Amino acid sequence: MQTRSSWEHEEGEDGHGWDHAGWSYDGPTGPQYWGTLTPDYAQCSSGGRQSPIDIIEFRTSRRFLGDLKFTYPTNASGTLWNNGHTIEFHSETNLWSHISGGPLYEDQYHIVSMHLHAPSEHQLNGKYYPLELHIVHQARGTMDLVVVAVFFEEGPYSEFLAEYEYPIHDIETPDAHSPVGGIDVMSVIPRNASYYYYRGSLTIPDCDERVTWLVLSHTMTALPEQIQEFTKIYPHINRPVQPLNSRVVYFHAEGDPSLLPPNFHIPAPVECPPNVTITVPERDDPPEHHVLGISLVFFCLIALMVSLRAVRPK
Ligand SMILES: [Zn+2]
Repeated sequence: MQTRSSWEHEEGEDGHGWDHAGWSYDGPTGPQYWGTLTPDYAQCSSGGRQSPIDIIEFRTSRRFLGDLKFTYPTNASGTLWNNGHTIEFHSETNLWSHISGGPLYEDQYHIVSMHLHAPSEHQLNGKYYPLELHIVHQARGTMDLVVVAVFFEEGPYSEFLAEYEYPIHDIETPDAHSPVGGIDVMSVIPRNASYYYYRGSLTIPDCDERVTWLVLSHTMTALPEQIQEFTKIYPHINRPVQPLNSRVVYFHAEGDPSLLPPNFHIPAPVECPPNVTITVPERDDPPEHHVLGISLVFFCLIALMVSLRAVRPK
């Protein structure tokens, strides 16, 4: 265990830092009062694009947005910190860790921190999960954040959470932190990284609406004991779901061939006239039969070429 140092006083990414006004997850400083605690937190109650949300699958818009590209370390070292609201990990190797692809286009967003919520903050079809990991990213020169959310449910052992288990015993009290190494951040990304994408906010004060959310639809698993290692310190650290309002949640299914690129139109099927069969003319057929047969072949070929041109994405 170490003592607090100066870097801890910085306002953390995702708002997880030393807060200006006390807030909590229940009681008189709980989520329903965040917006009134200080003018700085006004967006918590007045904002129209708040997070988390309940993602209702059948209301999402399936789109081809492109697969996400994760360039994450497999042996990260850094500091595990009990910031009084959650357990947070700051990596020393974040310069080599970034996400791109999907709706992020060519921009690279670097990992600035990771932290857990219990139970999950987002819901999938009204369902909460025992844990939700937030991997917080920021692009150089911008205040915009990209947060990847990964749900954990009870199941087989989690290599990722295992790296937290030993140091977490050292930081059960707020303000404590401990060095940690060997974290394989790639191991927390599901093999299929299909995702929901929407624009939202930080889920803690000041609830600023500058977050691109990428909520992975495939869950990870952890043993019940592994989940309890965390929940015995913080059993309830999640903001209630917020109204979606007029926002659209998009869904990109990785590897789904039924999802077509944007502006990709399926052409009408090519049909030859129903009462015509194309036959190779007999050698002794009259010349007009040859002309008719060749014309029909040309008609079908031209129709086919037109349809192939329409298949190309615009
Ligand atoms: Zn969070």
